[in-house]
Amino acid sequence: MTEASATQRNTAAQVEETVEALRAHGTDIVRVIYPDLIGVDRGRDILVGQLPSACGHGLSFCRAVYHTSPRGDVVPVAGGLEAGLPDVCVRPDLSTLQALPWEPGVAWCIGDTFDPATGEPTPESPRALLRRVLEGANSYAGGPVTPVVGPELEYFLCEADPAAASGWALYGGATGNVYSAGRRGDPDGHLLRTLRLLADLGIGVIAGNHEFDGGQFEINLDHSEALDAADRAFRFKAAVKETARREGRLATFMAKPFNALGGSGFHLHISLTDSAGRHVFEDPGAPDGLSASARHAIAGLLRHAPALSALLNPTVNSYKRFGPDTLAPWLIDWGLDNRSAMLRIPPERGAGTRLELRLGDASANPYLAVAGAVAALLLGLRDKAEPPPPLEGYGYQEDSAPRLPGTLGAALDALEADEALTELLGTGFTDAFLTYKRNEIERFQQHVTDWEFMEYAFQI
Ligand code: GLU
Ligand code: MG
Repeated sequence: MTEASATQRNTAAQVEETVEALRAHGTDIVRVIYPDLIGVDRGRDILVGQLPSACGHGLSFCRAVYHTSPRGDVVPVAGGLEAGLPDVCVRPDLSTLQALPWEPGVAWCIGDTFDPATGEPTPESPRALLRRVLEGANSYAGGPVTPVVGPELEYFLCEADPAAASGWALYGGATGNVYSAGRRGDPDGHLLRTLRLLADLGIGVIAGNHEFDGGQFEINLDHSEALDAADRAFRFKAAVKETARREGRLATFMAKPFNALGGSGFHLHISLTDSAGRHVFEDPGAPDGLSASARHAIAGLLRHAPALSALLNPTVNSYKRFGPDTLAPWLIDWGLDNRSAMLRIPPERGAGTRLELRLGDASANPYLAVAGAVAALLLGLRDKAEPPPPLEGYGYQEDSAPRLPGTLGAALDALEADEALTELLGTGFTDAFLTYKRNEIERFQQHVTDWEFMEYAFQI
């Protein structure tokens, strides 16, 4: 990929115009953010007058930002520590510039990282990875297709609680407010405030409700082309975490924060259009109204599911969300309007014909989740893969379908072994991801958990 296509360079005149427009709106700071390997927003606040330089040379960051754990350990991934912690540069993509409703005078903007020596995208860049996969959709042998994605994210909201071991306890927390709106499950109107801020931000948020468990919320984003959808989901997570922090609260997207409660999903609604704008998954004359391409796409997602789970369920904790009777998946299966399946085909047809991949949890990096799902779907189309019959009824029957990986380690092994998928994603990326994530497992395995103390300390 060339530098120009990777980083959306703007002309000097466009940048100057943007600076003028920002100043006219009273904006004096631009927050340039970009996703790291795990989807966390890294970034820098720059004075608006620095925008031309940022859009030219780029902003320098240490490449090891991609290799840093959520707690700040630098993991030895090739190109980082052993290479002397070199720079990557970040160039703002001005098409993503937006005023921050909760931070007057500040606008934010997503940046693209590149290697200053070559101008090429950084191999770890999740946004570059998604662009690579989308080029595959664009050059698909059966004719270019455009993946359209609607992200659906769940999270738990916590309040500071000095008495809790972690320092945090569930907000609200009363049980029974399943899929409700209003103050029963949301005593001080967190959801209304958040929806309004997000509406002002302009990332295509359309609705929200209290989720299944106490203190858990879901907010839906409109569907759009895959890169834009991932950009919006990335900013959504950053915005929800940031606005909760401003209120002294913690919004957590971890997969399963509490033993007694369910997990948080990151469901992806995916459809395809062809170059004439037709909905590729629809065929009114075919069984269930699903085209051959829809069947191939379903089969691709099922076939590559073990590897995909490394990207869509990327933490040690993710595998505790899977299980029978969870509304999260457990088996590699699909079903017609069946929420107990990993892949649900919602009942709408026509322009609404789509797949709902329920595999992902909220901790997934939106770029990796979307890239992985689109890549698996394209492989299904390429191979003209056929799915097994759909699940009927209750979906958590052991042995009715293969099990999803039970641990992050098994998922990483499946990713490494899935050569078709890693080739599409690029081994520059997957090698870094595997090293980084295997280090996470190693650190976890060295750590003595509360469970071990309670299990072993008293009787043995
Ligand atoms: N919380 C469930 C999950 O982890 C999904 C619940 C729902 O169907 O909305 O995927
Ligand atoms: Mg939900």
